[in-house]
Amino acid sequence: MIILGIESTAHTFGASIIDFDNKKVLSNEKMNYTTKSGGMIPSKVADFHVENCDKVIDSALEKAGKTFEDVQLISFSQSPGIGHMLKIGAFAARTLSKRLNVPIIGVNHCIAHLEIGRVLTDAKDPVLLYASGANTQVIAYEGGKYRVFGETLDIGIGNFLDSLARFLGLGFPGGPKIQELAKKGKKFHKLPYVVKGMDVSFGGLLTHCKNLYSQKKISIEDLCLSVQETVFAMLLEVSERAMAHTGKKELLLGGGVACNTRLQEMSNIMCKERDAKCFILENQYNVDNAAMIAMLGGMMHTSGTRQELKDTEVNPYLRTDEVLVSWRN
Ligand code: AMP
Ligand code: MG
Repeated sequence: MIILGIESTAHTFGASIIDFDNKKVLSNEKMNYTTKSGGMIPSKVADFHVENCDKVIDSALEKAGKTFEDVQLISFSQSPGIGHMLKIGAFAARTLSKRLNVPIIGVNHCIAHLEIGRVLTDAKDPVLLYASGANTQVIAYEGGKYRVFGETLDIGIGNFLDSLARFLGLGFPGGPKIQELAKKGKKFHKLPYVVKGMDVSFGGLLTHCKNLYSQKKISIEDLCLSVQETVFAMLLEVSERAMAHTGKKELLLGGGVACNTRLQEMSNIMCKERDAKCFILENQYNVDNAAMIAMLGGMMHTSGTRQELKDTEVNPYLRTDEVLVSWRN
């Protein structure tokens, strides 16, 4: 089955063609909305997606050596995400589904991050540390559903890094810039470490870091190093606790922040110490991408899930554990 996946939960518009029967990604195209200064205004990002959606979809087909006639299922990000952007992807998916007369299926973006890991690695039943711009969650399959074992109580880890980077004048996206500066850091400074049970929080830490830097109490390199060591330790503490609680022996990283080499290194150390396995995807599957949307659409369709056009309304706030899981036993 040839599937077209469409991703548009936030600043990325993605399109991917997969050969589902062979679990092969034939193309995985994307365009990202960026700014030189400031953040994202949803209506502007939506305009960007409208302007670029056909280019990205055409390019996905071309790279895969396929045409619209080959597409047998269309899958799109239905939840969660920013309403303005979600609607563009859903609109493109609905239009194509009607025009091509092929089934349509809306999927949950967070679960797609986990499922692409199960397809592309040897992970069978991992705990997912999903560390992206807006989302920071520890997710695992338990009792017939994907459950959130821990999450941020305020902003996502990526938003935290981007906000700090914006304050430091480093531009967007800030995560990679902080990673490079951290490599030049010499001294670790103790920072507020905020883990509450299974949850984490970054808001107070952000204010603290801004104050430290404004008061010239720390160099930019040492700040970046100390920030990375602190926030990644927080994320791994709650991930490890979820692994202990569920008895799972696999950790999977997902989300844009999973591209960070220091987070990857620390994850490997934690897993080694508890005799577990750590799975890290190629960066193109860590960031928001449409291949994972196509893959989850294929799993749902194969297990019998069907949607009418009326079922394809987007849901910006759907919780991971509200999704009925039909494709795992
Ligand atoms: P996503 O929302 O999953 O597309 O991820 C976007 C987020 O990933 C942004 O906040 C980026 O700053 C962050 N990011 C990307 N690469 C890195 C990196 N190497 N280290 C830390 N954060 C990163
Ligand atoms: Mg994501």
